[in-house]
Amino acid sequence: MISTRFGGLIAERMRAEHRALAARWFERLLHLLPVDARDIFPTESLLDHIPALILEIGAYLQHPEEDAIASNTAIIQKAQELGGLRHAQQASLHQLLREYQVLSGILVAFVLEEMQQPGVTPSPAESAMVVSKLHQAVNVLSQSTVESFVSLYTRTIAEQNERLEQFTRMAAHEWRQPLSALHTGTTLLGQEGLDPARARRTIEVLQRNVTHLIDLTHKLEAVARIEPTHDNAVVQEVDVSTIVEEAARQLREMAEARGVEIRVSNGLPWLTVDVGRLELVFVNLLSNAIKYCDPAKPVRYVEVTGQEKDGDRRLIVVRDNGLGIPQEALASIFRRFTRGHPQRDEISGLGLGLSIVEDCVRTLGGTVHVESTEGVGSSFALTLPVTPPRPAA
Ligand code: ADP
Repeated sequence: MISTRFGGLIAERMRAEHRALAARWFERLLHLLPVDARDIFPTESLLDHIPALILEIGAYLQHPEEDAIASNTAIIQKAQELGGLRHAQQASLHQLLREYQVLSGILVAFVLEEMQQPGVTPSPAESAMVVSKLHQAVNVLSQSTVESFVSLYTRTIAEQNERLEQFTRMAAHEWRQPLSALHTGTTLLGQEGLDPARARRTIEVLQRNVTHLIDLTHKLEAVARIEPTHDNAVVQEVDVSTIVEEAARQLREMAEARGVEIRVSNGLPWLTVDVGRLELVFVNLLSNAIKYCDPAKPVRYVEVTGQEKDGDRRLIVVRDNGLGIPQEALASIFRRFTRGHPQRDEISGLGLGLSIVEDCVRTLGGTVHVESTEGVGSSFALTLPVTPPRPAA
């Protein structure tokens, strides 16, 4: 059997130097990838992983058993965790493999440096064994990281697919009704000798349905437009109540049809803000409050109120006394194509409104939080800056 004396020496040196080696690895990565350090490892817990892996690789060099590292469940778990963390950071598979490649390079260079130290005279077989074990260890760990990364990635794609399928079903459902109204209406208008009063009513129906289709299309466009790169925002200093009033005006017919009163408090703040985006936020929040009103309540309302949060931020709350949101749905309602009342087929929707709200609010430099109790109502709290955030460089 080949002596592991040199392996033992390297293991000891790696134990002593594991933090310095991790730092070297990190520097090398930053040099290779033109990215901000925080994009690679923004948290302390992530930074702990690489030194821990280096420690274990070192310990493995001492063990003659071939599969010692694969059976070291603690370190395999650490490598898997790394896959999960990198997935959460939306790293690419290519980047992940590159990181391990760099780690291999740094460790082999370290072994070579150690071989040059005075008094260290490993035989060629010993050196070859240490380097080969080192590669083996990095391979096993990178496989574990990649495995967990890929399985999470696959799960995300499957979830996205499922939501897209659901969206397609909902979109077809949403479009079918106005389209069939258009079909019936135009056929009717094509008939000879149609009574003028009936023709007028039919045209009104057609107009309502065309407006509905335009509305749906705007929603989809809004989702695509969220990318801040395609921006032509009009930023103005405005009284937020004028924006809420404008949104309410657009929804008046819908609110009247469902008997929902829109109350706008006169304590709303002034903000310097992208007016179009903020209007989109209120149109979506108010139309949801109307859509999900509670028909069992004699008085139905949605109210918009405001207050100062701290020096340069303002809180605006959109609160309704509607159906409320099922507790189990609360955590996911801001996700695209997600609906919280799937069983209520009579309330149409694409599951896009709140994702548009969240994207817009984020672009405005603010946050949105929801609180809701089923049967009581929902409250959406917007925190917005008084002046817009500086655009990213
Ligand atoms: P959609 O209304 O098209 O389903 P949204 O993204 O606007 O999509 O809303 C997501 C889900 O959140 C809705 O399906 C609904 O279940 C719930 N929701 C949103 N706003 C309210 C509200 N004001 N009251 C009750 N439920 C709401």
